[in-house]
Amino acid sequence: MYQSKLFTPTLKEAPSEAQIPSHILMLRAGLVRQLGAGIFSFLPLGYRIVKKVMGIIRTEMDRIGGQEFHLPALNPIEIWEQTGRVEAMGDVMFHIKNRDGLVLAPTHEEIMTYHARQHVKSYRDMPQIWYQIQTKFRNEPRPKSGVLRGRQFTMKDSYSLDNSWEALDTSYDKHAEAYREIYKKSGLKFFVVGASSGSMGGSDSQEFMVESSFGEDTCAICDISGYAANIEVATSALQPIGRIQSDDLPSKFATPHAKTINDLVDQFCFDKNRCAKSVIYIADSKPYLILMRGNDELNEAKFQHFIGAIQCRAADPDELLHITGAHAGSIGPIGISSTCTIYADNLLKDANGLICGANEDGYHYSSLDLLRDTNVHAYADFRVVHAGEPCINGNNPLRIVNAIEVGHIFKLGTRYSQALGATFVDEQGKDHPIIMGSYGIGVERIIACAIEQNHDDKGIMWPLSIAPYHVHLLGLGLHKSAEAVKACSDIHTMLENSGIECLFDDRDISPGIKFNDADLIGITFQLIVGDKGLNQRQLELKIRATGERILIPISEEYGGLTNILTTIQKQIIHNTIQ
Ligand code: ATP
Ligand code: MG
Repeated sequence: MYQSKLFTPTLKEAPSEAQIPSHILMLRAGLVRQLGAGIFSFLPLGYRIVKKVMGIIRTEMDRIGGQEFHLPALNPIEIWEQTGRVEAMGDVMFHIKNRDGLVLAPTHEEIMTYHARQHVKSYRDMPQIWYQIQTKFRNEPRPKSGVLRGRQFTMKDSYSLDNSWEALDTSYDKHAEAYREIYKKSGLKFFVVGASSGSMGGSDSQEFMVESSFGEDTCAICDISGYAANIEVATSALQPIGRIQSDDLPSKFATPHAKTINDLVDQFCFDKNRCAKSVIYIADSKPYLILMRGNDELNEAKFQHFIGAIQCRAADPDELLHITGAHAGSIGPIGISSTCTIYADNLLKDANGLICGANEDGYHYSSLDLLRDTNVHAYADFRVVHAGEPCINGNNPLRIVNAIEVGHIFKLGTRYSQALGATFVDEQGKDHPIIMGSYGIGVERIIACAIEQNHDDKGIMWPLSIAPYHVHLLGLGLHKSAEAVKACSDIHTMLENSGIECLFDDRDISPGIKFNDADLIGITFQLIVGDKGLNQRQLELKIRATGERILIPISEEYGGLTNILTTIQKQIIHNTIQ
């Protein structure tokens, strides 16, 4: 491809609304243009990358027996009403204004299940894996990170249909393996979080994450054991503080200037771990007091999940006063209303010698013994894990990282097949709902994550597998050297004929601009051809990611071309992820 003919509008600076590297670089390299909030047009160079990623996905989906569909984005709302998801999706779903009864699909569980209901009738008709790579519409409230969060985006979504829970496990495991291959082949470093008990409960789910400071998820990971968990469920091997030798009874003392645990520690020299912090939560309209170590933070998701509440929030100051008789900073379990259920974090299990609020402003108790003085309903892991805590698999320190979700696999079970009446007949002639799984990958997210992980201050450094072209041929001084023009055009033709995708920068502009554009666009290999190299009978192949320069001798014309081809072929093999 001649770059002079390619529409690739590179920019020196990205518009100020682009804040993260992938967004900035996709705009600057001329891969995308923004049409509206969360709406992007892919330009020719960008769309080549999209097609490469889709190609990798197709190969791996076909490998596990997937069959490709293409479903409409325009959906009858009544199918979505049958599963209760019009309400559940709320404002995320786009509704069509001038045609009643149509919505834009944010995902396709309903539609696939609809087709399954039409035609999958017998246990013999399964297993099936149905997939598509298609446009999804979601009215995301804050689309601010470029194509990472679009209101219109491309998803590979697939759905497994099985006649037993064991068969669902197999379909799910096949997807997990396919996803690993897809990310690996796209050159992404990723980790997997989520519960996968392998049980038959039908609710396992795993998320595939890419570490990035711009990710909206927070995860705890251990680089040595491979442990990885979303912060909402992450735990550590930190041990309970245990009991100390003391029979002292609780005694109230004045703490007029201590509003926080740090104040208590500073003013009275208490052990921070034994300053028990109490927080009050309202879950499904009932009050709860949760005790934790002074320096710990309640993980609301863990607490809500543990008590199985639908709604859960911190009590407001008026409620605190009403329930405890005190303001925040002076709250504790002794003498608390019996309507308030007490829970405590595992690290305080059966602890004594604790300091706690006295439910009276400006007072605390010393020598609280949880076994003796309180009625703790249950102990559980309620705290937020912190960086450096020991991993539960081997005690190595955990890292807390931000991450971007690039994929999600989920055992749906019979939720959709039941709601839509998609049943099959078993060997005994008995009806059952089809057992389903749902699996999604964001195509643009793979691209943006690849940039987040592979860029420097000059631009993108594409992994070969998803690079828009394999080789960027930079022809220097072409306007004044017929020899350089001929060499470039021969090399270009030879590479293309050998199946190596070549973008030939034949533009009549300065070498400096060519080098800058090439580094910005980030094609894996740059082949530099100009009079200087031709005279010295050696050309330079630069590896964009490492900056390494390989000199290719070109002693005479025919041998020269062969040398170039074999050197590039060798580099392609070397850079191909198996
Ligand atoms: P998030 O929590 O980031 O909103 P999600 O849980 O809504 O993601 P799923 O419904 O599981 O995502 O969709 C499957 C995949 O589609 C995600 O893993 C992600 O890669 C991609 N995806 C989801 N929403 C968007 C979006 N708004 N823009 C681009 N890709 C998206
Ligand atoms: Mg979402």
